[in-house]
Amino acid sequence: MKTVTEYFGSMVFDDKVMQSMLDENIYNTLKRTIKDGRSLNLSVANEVANAMKDWAISLGATHFTHWFQPMTGITAEKHDSFISPDKNGRVIMEFSGKELVRGETDASSFPSGGLRATFEARGYTAWDATSYAFIKDGVLCIPTAFCSYSGDALDQKTPLLRSMEAINRQTMRVLKLFGNDEVTSVKTTVGPEQEYFLVDKQVFNKRKDLVYTGRTLFGAEPPKGQALEGHYYGVIKPRVQAFMNDLNEELWKLGVLAKTEHNEAAPAQHELAPIFATTNIAADHNQLTMEIMQKLAKKHDMVCLLHEKPFEGVNGSGKHNNWSISTNTGINLFEPGDTPSKNAQFLLFLCAVLKAVDDYQDLLRISVASAGNDHRLGAHEAPPAVVSIFLGDELTEILEAIEKDQPYGAKEKELLRVGVHTMPKFPKDTTDRNRTSPFAFTGNKFEFRMLGSSASVSAPNTVINTAVAEILKQFADELESADNFETALHDLIKRVITTHKRIIFNGNGYDDKWLAEAEKRGLLNLRTTPDALPHFVDAKNVELFTAHKVYTEREMHSRLEIQLQNYCALVNIEAKTMVEMAKKEILPAASEYSQLLSDTILSKKAVSETLDCTYETEILTEISERIAKAYKHLKSLEKALVNAGKIHEAAALSVYYKDKVLPVMAKLRGEADALENLVSADYWPIPTYGDLMFGV
Ligand code: ADP
Ligand code: MG
Repeated sequence: MKTVTEYFGSMVFDDKVMQSMLDENIYNTLKRTIKDGRSLNLSVANEVANAMKDWAISLGATHFTHWFQPMTGITAEKHDSFISPDKNGRVIMEFSGKELVRGETDASSFPSGGLRATFEARGYTAWDATSYAFIKDGVLCIPTAFCSYSGDALDQKTPLLRSMEAINRQTMRVLKLFGNDEVTSVKTTVGPEQEYFLVDKQVFNKRKDLVYTGRTLFGAEPPKGQALEGHYYGVIKPRVQAFMNDLNEELWKLGVLAKTEHNEAAPAQHELAPIFATTNIAADHNQLTMEIMQKLAKKHDMVCLLHEKPFEGVNGSGKHNNWSISTNTGINLFEPGDTPSKNAQFLLFLCAVLKAVDDYQDLLRISVASAGNDHRLGAHEAPPAVVSIFLGDELTEILEAIEKDQPYGAKEKELLRVGVHTMPKFPKDTTDRNRTSPFAFTGNKFEFRMLGSSASVSAPNTVINTAVAEILKQFADELESADNFETALHDLIKRVITTHKRIIFNGNGYDDKWLAEAEKRGLLNLRTTPDALPHFVDAKNVELFTAHKVYTEREMHSRLEIQLQNYCALVNIEAKTMVEMAKKEILPAASEYSQLLSDTILSKKAVSETLDCTYETEILTEISERIAKAYKHLKSLEKALVNAGKIHEAAALSVYYKDKVLPVMAKLRGEADALENLVSADYWPIPTYGDLMFGV
C-alpha cells in the first residue's frame, strides 16, 4: 500500500511532473509566462499539451476537459477524448496546444444574465495556468476561466483572478513605501473550512424536499436535537469515518491539503478544513472538495447535504473563509511584526481591512446572499446579516490609544505615535476566539464567517480583494505624495480609526442587543437576499469594480440578474415541492389516520355508548382543524405561485417570493409539523428529523 506522502498529488500535473516531463527551456518559458500572467506561445503550448497528455494517459485517462465554474454554482465540464483517427483506420491519442490553452463551448445553456441576448451564444474557456491540471475519474481536467465571445466574464473565476491582480498592484505600492524592495508580488491566500451533513441515502430518497431542494421543507423537531451538544468534536461513527478516509485519500491524490475533520455542533454535521492556498487554487480545491464529498457519500450509501440550512431548528452549514495576503518572499502581511517598522506596516494593512469592511459592508453581505443562506444568517448558529469586524480587546485598545493620543500598555506609558521607530511590540496571539463575529481577525488572518456552505468562495473573495485594493490605493495615493511619511502615516491611521471604528464589534454577534446597537451605529442590516442584491449595482460599487477592472458595469448587471433569477427559481421549486408533498403525502396521510380514529370511535360506540373516546375524539378534532388550516394555506400558496408567474421583472419577483410566498410556506409547514406530532408514526409518510439526523 502506498503511503500518503507517496500518493499525495499523484493525480496533479504539478511543478514536479512538469519539470520531469518538459524540456528545460520549455519548462522555464512556461514558468515565466505563468508568473507574468501572459499567454503561452503556441509551440510551447503544444509541447506542454503533449507532455500533459502522455502523463494523463499513463494514469489511465482517455479524455480531457476544460473545467470551469459558471454562475450556476457548480463546476462544468464537457469531456473530449484524446482519440483521433489515423490513416490505417485505427486511432492515435492527440492533444494540441490549442486545445489546452483555449476551448470553445456553447455558452447558451449557462446563465449569462442578459449578456447573451446581445451577443453570440459561443463562449470561450481559457487555461488558468496558475492552477494545476489534474485527473478526475479518468479525465484530464484543465482549470479554466469562462467568458463570452465578446470577452464578458461568465464565470466565478475570471473576476477572482482580476481581483487578485488589483490587490497585488495596490499592495505593491504600499510595500514600496515601507521599503520592502525584495518583494515583487503578493497573492491573497484562503483556507475555507467546509461544513456539511451526511444522511442515509435510503432515508434521503424518501424525502422529495431533500431530493428536489436539498433542504427539508417539513419536519417537526425530534425529542433530541442538538440540545445536549454531544456531537461537537464527538467520536466519529465508523461509517462516517470510512467516508472521511476515502475523501481524504481522493483529495490528497488531487493535491488538496485536507487537514482536519471533525463532527460539528448538529447531529450528522461535519467539517473539513484544508491548509490554506493561493486564493484561486483554494477556490478550485473547495469546488473539488464539495464535488468529491457528494460523489463519495453516495458510494457509502449516504448523501452529503451542502445546503445552508437542511434542517430547521438545527445549526446550518457555513464555510469560514480564512483570508490573508502573502508576499512572494513568504511573508504574511497580517502577521504582527517584531520591529516597530513592521508593526506600523501591519497596522496600516489592518486599517485597510477595517475601512474596506466598513465602506463595503453591502458588498460583503451581497457576496454571501442566497436563498439558502437567508435561513442561516441571523439564526442562532450564524452571524447576523449585519457586517462587523472583530479585532479582540488588545488590538482594539491599541487602536483606541492611537485615536485618543493616550498611553498604551503598562510598561510603555508613552503616547502611541505610529511611526517607523516608535511602535510598541504587539501581542502575538490576540485571538479571543470570538465565534460570533462575521469578520474576525484571528491573529494573522481574517476569518469571514458569513459564507454559506454550498456557494463558491470566489464571489466573497473577489469582494474582499477588490475592496481592500481600493483602500490600499487611497492610502498609497495619500502617502506617496506626503512630505513627511511618518507624520502622514500616523495621521492616516488615526483618521481611519476615528472614521471607521463603528465597524469594530468585539461582543456577542448573536445577541439581539447587538442588532439594535448596530442600527444606532448606522451599520447596514440587509436581512434577506432580495433586500441585499439590488445594492450590488449602487453607483459606489460600480465605481469600485470598474476602477479596478474586476467587473465591467455590464458584467455587474448580468450577475445581479443571474443572482435574482437563481433566488426566484429556488424558492419557486421549494414552493412547488411543498405543494406536492402536502397534497400527495402529508394531507392524505393525516386524513387516512383521522379515518382510523373516527372508525375507532364508531366501533367503540357500537360496543357501548359509555366507552371513553376522549383520546380519539380530541386527537381527531385537532387533526381535522389542522388539516383544514393546512389546506387553506396550501391553496394560498398555489394562488401565490400563480400570481408570481405574472411578475416578469426579477427584482420585483424576488421581493414577491420573499414577502408573499415564503411566509405562506412557513404557515403551511407549521400546520404540517403539528400534524406530524399528532399522526401515528405508522401513517406518517416521510422520514422524520430523527430518522434523518440519527440514521447514519
Ligand atoms: P480554527 O479557525 O478552526 O481555529 P485555524 O485557525 O487553525 O482553525 O485555521 C483555520 C483555517 O485557516 C485553515 O484552513 C488554515 O489553513 C487557514 N489559514 C491559516 N493561516 C492562513 C493564512 N495566512 N491565510 C489564509 N488562511 C489561513
Ligand atoms: Mg474557523
